[in-house]
Amino acid sequence: MIREILAHPDPRLRQVSRPVERFDDELRSLVDDMIDTMHDAEGIGLAAVQIGVHLRLAVMKVDENPLRIMINPEYEKLGEPMELDEGCLSVPGVREKTKSRVDRVHVRALDLEGQPYEFEANGLEAACVQHECDHIDGHLYVDCLSNVRRARVLKRYRRERERAAERETRD
Ligand SMILES: [Zn+2]
Repeated sequence: MIREILAHPDPRLRQVSRPVERFDDELRSLVDDMIDTMHDAEGIGLAAVQIGVHLRLAVMKVDENPLRIMINPEYEKLGEPMELDEGCLSVPGVREKTKSRVDRVHVRALDLEGQPYEFEANGLEAACVQHECDHIDGHLYVDCLSNVRRARVLKRYRRERERAAERETRD
């Protein structure tokens, strides 16, 4: 089932998520919805907080890498800082250059059965891990920008939102 993605400045995006403790049908159904919602929005990653569920959980599908279900994820930075044209399903319609991600991370997470697993992510997938883990702690990528760039991207974002709202009232 496709769920509604919360958009900035929704305060629920700023809440810190709590660890997943129950590995049951409810969790599996939540993960299914997150995967459907991510694909529908043509995103490469989605954290549960983005659909208003405050659990430490994200799904990710970047290029030819496998679909990742990351429950209670943690990562270690291994690579070098990378420049990225970053966007977010919760700040739709705009992108901005960021330099705060590294290009290689080692990830530890649990799977749907609650079993620990690890993997190494590179490039865009590494950036996505960092982006999703930020969501889990209530952060958005625009927080990492300089004041000038943040003001600029949020101004563009507000303009996009106004245009979208106008389109909606016309239809
Ligand atoms: Zn995002």
